[in-house]
Amino acid sequence: MSFDDIKISKQIRMALDEAGFEKPTEIQEKVFSPIRAGKDVIGIAQTGTGKTLAYLMPILMKLNYAQGFDPRALIVVPTRELVLQVVETIELLSPYINLRAVGVYGGVNINTQKEKLYAGIDIIVATPGRLMDIYMTRILKFTLIKTLVVDEADKLMDLGFMPQLKAIFEIIPEVHQNLLFSATFSDTVAQLADDFLISPERIEI
Ligand code: AMP
Repeated sequence: MSFDDIKISKQIRMALDEAGFEKPTEIQEKVFSPIRAGKDVIGIAQTGTGKTLAYLMPILMKLNYAQGFDPRALIVVPTRELVLQVVETIELLSPYINLRAVGVYGGVNINTQKEKLYAGIDIIVATPGRLMDIYMTRILKFTLIKTLVVDEADKLMDLGFMPQLKAIFEIIPEVHQNLLFSATFSDTVAQLADDFLISPERIEI
């Protein structure tokens, strides 16, 4: 199967060509249609399988172009390293689309990160605690969030982020698409999915 078979936009296709990515990985192939269809999805896939691109490609196609001030997609991940990696992957996919992505994570001064938000953003990539800190500053509204990604859900649970995740579900609109990615479908991940996802399609590779 090629990227053409899964109907990637021309702009993203050009970026993939330049990155030397020739065909979709298994997880990319399998989650693309359900995500495009707006379904809640649980993707069980290890790091290294291309899971980041798997959720980013359809999200970037949906957002399409920079718009307004407040973010429309929120990606929650467990670590600073992963925040940086996801932002980097968004940049890799976006030379031909005008989208603004900002990463925020704990352990550094919040004011520097706040500065980056003032120009308006489309996608926020965040660790859970810092995301709630940003919310408290009221710089951004989360009322336009249409897509929430919880990436490395098992690791988020292991690190004890369930309370922050619950709080995040409270501050975003009730109607939104959930994309949950995890290396394992542990009991705590199953619980999270049970509590917050609506008729999810589960895809395991
Ligand atoms: P991930 O599982 O998201 O951490 O991705 C693992 C690595 O695979 C990253 O370095 C990606 O840049 C790379 N990658 C993702 N999708 C593809 C693809 N379709 N073809 C080749 N490499 C890819």
